[in-house]
Amino acid sequence: MTRIAVVGNNVAGTTLAKAIRDADVEAEIHIFTDEPVPYYTRPKLIGFIAGTVNDDKILFHPMDWYKKNRLQLHLDSKVEKVDGIGHRIFVEGGWLEYDKMALANGSKAFMPPFKGLPKDNVFTLRTLEDAMRIRASAAKAKDVVIIGGGLLGLETARALATGFPDLKVTILEFAEHLLMRQLDHEGAEILQRAIRELGTEVVTNAETEELLGGDVATEVKLRDGRTIKCDMVVVSAGARADLSLAKGAGLQVNRGVVVDGSLRTSNPDIFAVGDVAEFEGKVWGMIPPALEQARIAAKKMLELDGPDYAGTVPSNTLKVMGIDLTSIGKVRSEHDPPEEGFEEIRAVSADGKVYKKFVVKDGRMIGAILLGSKKEAAKVIRIIKGGEPVEQMISKLSDPEYDFD
Ligand SMILES: Cc1cc2nc3c(=O)[nH]c(=O)nc-3n(C[C@H](O)[C@H](O)[C@H](O)COP(=O)(O)OP(=O)(O)OC[C@H]3O[C@@H](n4cnc5c(N)ncnc54)[C@H](O)[C@@H]3O)c2cc1C
Repeated sequence: MTRIAVVGNNVAGTTLAKAIRDADVEAEIHIFTDEPVPYYTRPKLIGFIAGTVNDDKILFHPMDWYKKNRLQLHLDSKVEKVDGIGHRIFVEGGWLEYDKMALANGSKAFMPPFKGLPKDNVFTLRTLEDAMRIRASAAKAKDVVIIGGGLLGLETARALATGFPDLKVTILEFAEHLLMRQLDHEGAEILQRAIRELGTEVVTNAETEELLGGDVATEVKLRDGRTIKCDMVVVSAGARADLSLAKGAGLQVNRGVVVDGSLRTSNPDIFAVGDVAEFEGKVWGMIPPALEQARIAAKKMLELDGPDYAGTVPSNTLKVMGIDLTSIGKVRSEHDPPEEGFEEIRAVSADGKVYKKFVVKDGRMIGAILLGSKKEAAKVIRIIKGGEPVEQMISKLSDPEYDFD
């Protein structure tokens, strides 16, 4: 009987443990989490803050699911140390031996070293506990500043504006426009206009320098001298893989724990999946790659045949402040000027509310932005993932009505 230890009980760890159970009825499977609650999906925290998702709808699986699947779940149990040579982990005050183990311990919200920290009313959002603290603070606040205009920052802003309609919400974005990773300049202009129309302020080129005030922040001071009044701040500056266990175990790390196509780390009996893993220089930080990696790793951990992991095409279809946005693959060239064979085709609707951009390289679509429209998203994702030639449709892509039929 194989003894498996999984550190982390969010999407990567839970999916991995279940996939192992599905492939091996005998294995002894332990899952450890330092959180007091079992797996909940983090996107639901947005609805939780907005008040549209109740506490009792947060958990992904009821407690008896773990029992039914014979997964030994250890809540509130921080794994302190991994001894890769001795095949054991230190947890709950003792050593537990394993045959194979997986790091699915994810990432932590990043707090930049702003002057004036720490302050009682400055938060990051990663866990249910964070979401509870943010809700409690928002109930008493008037002016909230969100530092960071990425996807999570925008979603947090929307949640606070929905859940607390009297709150004045201001988003500060360091870069020249919102969603630098998913959008280009033209798309961002449309989005920013729409967000302002909804009553949320957006300040771009806003480099936060200091949080002013005593124990609580009362103003955010920018590098250019501007100040923004606040009685609550949510910092949304990305997440960083939690490398503490991997480093202690002497595993090869970079931005994440380095894994090969089997999701195997530099120790052959230790695997890494989800936000903590780095494959071919990339830490994905999203749910779809975590699911894919976990399912592949389960087979590899049991030494069963199965495909290798080859990376995930990032694709996000979501509502940003209620506006549909799909961003897939590469949305801009990494070269300036763009390399030979690189083409960008844009389409804007007559009312300026729908913006589409298609990125084509050597006759194949490698990326796209669809803002304000999602009916063609599934088809575009399929075309990009399938890598099929698109020469015949290129002339139609600049038509905002073209729906790929
Ligand atoms: C508010 C929010 C909204 C999001 N929305 C989306 C979305 O819409 N789409 C999308 O694709 N992604 C989204 N993400 C990102 C997504 O949630 C992550 O990619 C995903 O949670 C990664 O899962 P994971 O299992 O790898 O790691 P994590 O979710 O980070 O979970 C790791 C777990 O391991 C535990 N742990 C860490 N160290 C130890 C230890 N030593 N011992 C025991 N336990 C430990 C942690 O406490 C945590 O519970 C969102 C994230 C947030 C915060």
